[in-house]
Amino acid sequence: MTRNRKKKLAIRAEADGGSHARAARLHAAAPKEILTADVQDRLISAFKTEGWPVENDGFPEGGTWTGWLGPVWSMLSRPGWRHSEADPDDPDQYDLTAVPELTFITPKIPINTGEAMVLELPGNTPVADIISKVREELAGARAAKVSKLVNNAECSLCGDRYPATHLLPTTESDRLVLCPFCVFDGDILGSHPLRLAYLIDELTDEDVAAPAGWAAVTALLACAAGPEFRERLEGGGTLRLPLPHWFNPDLVWVWLPPGDLPPALHSLSPGTSLGTLVSAVETAYPDLRDRFRAQVAANLEEDEEDSNGEDERDYLVEQLWPAAICYAVTAATQFRERPGGHSPWHLLGDGFEEGNLADHFYQIGSTLDADSFGSVFTLSIGVPLISEALGFDPNP
Ligand SMILES: [Zn+2]
Repeated sequence: MTRNRKKKLAIRAEADGGSHARAARLHAAAPKEILTADVQDRLISAFKTEGWPVENDGFPEGGTWTGWLGPVWSMLSRPGWRHSEADPDDPDQYDLTAVPELTFITPKIPINTGEAMVLELPGNTPVADIISKVREELAGARAAKVSKLVNNAECSLCGDRYPATHLLPTTESDRLVLCPFCVFDGDILGSHPLRLAYLIDELTDEDVAAPAGWAAVTALLACAAGPEFRERLEGGGTLRLPLPHWFNPDLVWVWLPPGDLPPALHSLSPGTSLGTLVSAVETAYPDLRDRFRAQVAANLEEDEEDSNGEDERDYLVEQLWPAAICYAVTAATQFRERPGGHSPWHLLGDGFEEGNLADHFYQIGSTLDADSFGSVFTLSIGVPLISEALGFDPNP
């Protein structure tokens, strides 16, 4: 406002008995209180509505509300919270009209690896803006970290080169370290999924640039697992608790491929929960199951030209279908993020073997029968078929 305009307003206010000025003072005298409990509620439900995996304590601790939004750690507090343990909405401790501060950090546990993203926003930022800013910064943080990776080790089976910390021992042997696409290969004996689960959690919690394919391994084990899986995982004598995605594969965080995406996945970039991904894919491509069944029938016909009877069995294992979608998408993510790496689709061609799957299924208490061909078909035929449907060429 120019000085002249201010002056004119003041004169007019005086002229009409000061009512304008009084109204303006009244308006200014009651700045709005902002409760952190409300801000946290809105934040958590907004990310839930977006379909992200979300965890939230439901109470502030040490003056701070914490949230776990996919691979992001969110904190909400009052300005100056570091000096107080008080509830951030306690009017005796804080000026409740002071705008609370939101901080978003990735990775979730940056102690050893350092923060790849620190995003600070005022607590009164509209939630739609918060979500788009977090998505944008998270995509940038992952891309920046991925571009700096040094491939100083190789997968013991396929020989593809990765950073040493990104390859995990999936068996009892610490010397046999694998990439995510070799875990279920027939050449791998003596699997140890109960240990692998913790190693995957540790890696993905601490490294925002971890290979996308570990989500697919997580999805497959979590989808296949039986009711005893929790007891077996928690009985391993470790102090750490397994993450909730092992008992609900919908909550697995999936990194989408950077760059062009099919329209159905466009709004989900850079990542989302497996539950959200699966429903987006199913809605956009409702005929995937029919295509899978047709493909299986065609393959069987080719293999058994001399057999007379038609095979009427349905080989689709519904329980593993979300894992097949997860493999299809994360193979594309790895292919784009690791331009010098092997083609993950090539590895997946025979990367699922009955004996290896049966060994894993047995250890995680699965009730699925790996020897009935359904599991192997669902994965080895389903994954390339879904990849192709989504436009991620499985044979580049
Ligand atoms: Zn490998």
